[in-house]
Amino acid sequence: MSDNKDHIVNLRVTSDTYEKLKKGALANSESVSNFIRKAIEGSIGLVADISEEILSLGSGDLSGIESYHPARAAKKMACARCGGNIVRGATMMVGETSGSRKYMLCEECGKKLEG
Ligand SMILES: [Zn+2]
Repeated sequence: MSDNKDHIVNLRVTSDTYEKLKKGALANSESVSNFIRKAIEGSIGLVADISEEILSLGSGDLSGIESYHPARAAKKMACARCGGNIVRGATMMVGETSGSRKYMLCEECGKKLEG
């Protein structure tokens, strides 16, 4: 059900963010609310794409990954798929999507990429 009425959204931002918004609005000769509206409209598809990609990876779906290579972890991190620990020095797999986003995968999850 979609209507064409506009809606008012209130949001709280830090003083720092507000100053950046004010600067951006001034540089583009816009009101702060017009500047925010255009920024949201311009990025909402992108944010949705990224969220979808992250959620699908979290659910174990690796189909967004187009290439991968083994690597050694330079620091402790969490596997992008299962959330398990990847310790410093461990062998891991780095998967890359078409958007060149990289996902660090533990050895077990990396094996799923191979077959
Ligand atoms: Zn994993």
